[in-house]
Order: sequence, then C-alpha cells, then structure tokens
Amino acid sequence: MIDLRSDTLTKPNRAMLECILSAELGDDGRQNEQGRGEDKTTNLLEDYAAKLVGKEEGLFFSSGTLANTCALLTWCVPNDKVAVDACSHVYRTERVAFSPSFGQLIPRFYDFTEEQLPAPDSICNLLNKEPISLICLENTLNARGGVAIPPILLSEISQIAGRHKVPIHIDGARLFNAAISLSVDAKELCQYADSVMFCISKGLGAPVGSLLCGSGAFIRQARKTRKLLGGNMRQCGVIAAPALYALQHNIDSLRKDNANATSFAYTLNSLKTGRVRPHTDSNIVLMDITPYGISVDEYCAELSESGVLASSLDGKYIRFVFYNGITTQDAHEAAKIVLELDHKLSAKI
Ligand SMILES: *Cc1c(COP(=O)(O)O)cnc(C)c1O
Repeated sequence: MIDLRSDTLTKPNRAMLECILSAELGDDGRQNEQGRGEDKTTNLLEDYAAKLVGKEEGLFFSSGTLANTCALLTWCVPNDKVAVDACSHVYRTERVAFSPSFGQLIPRFYDFTEEQLPAPDSICNLLNKEPISLICLENTLNARGGVAIPPILLSEISQIAGRHKVPIHIDGARLFNAAISLSVDAKELCQYADSVMFCISKGLGAPVGSLLCGSGAFIRQARKTRKLLGGNMRQCGVIAAPALYALQHNIDSLRKDNANATSFAYTLNSLKTGRVRPHTDSNIVLMDITPYGISVDEYCAELSESGVLASSLDGKYIRFVFYNGITTQDAHEAAKIVLELDHKLSAKI
C-alpha cells in the first residue's frame, strides 16, 4: 500500500530514537528568571530552532495546533480582530481561539489570487477599515495545495502591516518545504513575521512537536500563555531530542518529497477527467474529483483497492502528500494507479 494520506505518517528512524537515550533531561516546567526550564535538551532544541529561522527565542510545544493557539492568544485579547485565510489551519482547527466561549477572537477574511496566494490589496483593505490585531499567514498553504508564498509577496504584506503596526504570525507547519520550493533560506521567509510556528512531526520525521519562535519579549509572554493552556511539559527532552535530530539531519530530505510531488502532479496532467490543482509548489497535490460524479469517500475506497491511500479535502479534492517514507518509485507507481482509475471512471461517465 502506498500511503499518501499525510506527512504526519513519518516514523522515527533508529538514530533518532537512539539519541533519546543520551539526552540530558530535567523539569522544563520549572523555570529560572530568564524563563529557561531545567530540561537541557529542550533548551538546546529551542535555541537551535530560533537560530534556524532568525528569531531570538523559541518555545517547544507538543503540537502545532497548541503552538498556533498560544501565538494567537499571546498577540490578542478577546474581541480583537484577526486577519486570516478562511481555509487556513489557524481558522479551521485552532477553533478555541475563535470560539465565543474561549478565545473570543473575531476573524476577518482576506482574499486570494488565482494563483492561490494572499491578495495584499485585500489585506490592506481590512486594515484600513478597522483595527486589526494580527495578520496570520500560512506557508506552505496546506488546503490550497501546498502553495509557497514567495519572499517578495511576504515583504509587500509586511510593509502594509508595518504601516498599521500590526504583527504577522506565520503558520509554517511546512516552512522548510516552502523554503526549498522557493530556493531560499527559511530565515528569509521568517524575517517578515513577528512570530512563526513550524512542525517537526511532519515531513521532518520527528515523532512529536512544534516550535514557536519570535522575539525574546514575545516568547516570554507566550511561555505564560502556554502554561495557562496546560501546555507546559516536564522531561520533554525525550521528545526534544528526536526533534533536534530532525532539524539537524532531515531538512534536505524534503527536497525529494517536493520533487516526488511535482513529478506526480506532472504525470497527472494527462488525466482525462480528474483535474490536478495547478501550482503544485511543494509536497502536496490536490486533485478535483467532482467531474467523476462520485463522492470523495467512494473515490478513496476505489483508490485504496488499487493500492493507494489518500485523504479528502472539502468534499471535492483528494489530497496526496509526499514524505520520506515514499520513494520516487512509489510516487511513479501511485501516479500510474491514479491514471488507471481515471480511465476506469471516465469510461463510466
Ligand atoms: C499540521 C498543521 C498544523 C498543526 O499541527 P499539529 O501538530 O497536527 O497540531 C498547523 N498548521 C498547518 C498548516 C498544518 O498542516
């Protein structure tokens, strides 16, 4: 079975697991005046992560959802308005931040261009209309097919934000897939943001965790928010050690994942009926299956019988995700299977 449901399916390798045994541990929830916890491995990870994205400090979380929620609730207070993409993880999944009985933040949606990139004019209009406390961006854009936002557009948005003194948070769950796709350093993408979250439990292959990075002042506040949210951990060096290993060894392997997705999407350009969403920049490929006239569940079931697992999105798309457990051979094989299914379903229309 070729499992393309998600890059969260990556499993730790032996070297990654072995580094846990020699990790120096302590109580990360017990902090000194500088706000540093007593788990040395977690501190190493946080420092390494912050440096990697060009920020002063980092903070370790058990999930990206918690890290994003913490960022939102650190930048904002109840009834603050936040500029977000209606399709983003921050809006769709970090529901606690926007819930009327919890975070009470109010979303303001900005538009996208045909290339599935945030439209700066639309963000500018939102900021001109009323006070906005935070702009959230996602890079790569998961639900828009893994599109990477280029530095030139980030710079334009950051200038608009700067004129209104509004901070920018980047949900960079797949930040390094974006950086590789755009052939830039992750720092170059993060210089336009005041805070950035990235996942190490996805393509980077660590079992658990995400990092939130920003200025020293922001991270000090975020530590307090994390504690309120129940996000403090104790000897979390056991998960920080494989996370650090992933950052030190696995970033470059995302290049292969992006390339496999690109070649998969390229092959699917010859589909008779299904439609691959254009602008496949990174490790995600979306395919519109509505022309087949069957449901996403029916499609996924047929595909699974042929040996490929995929997930559905918005009742319209099938999402194929490439990660380090998927070889180039697998990617070719999967494309062949999707093409065969296309022939079969097209004959029935
Ligand atoms: C996966 C993901 C997250 C959150 O990560 P979890 O660790 O699964 O909570 C946030 N944003 C995006 C875009 C993601 O794909």
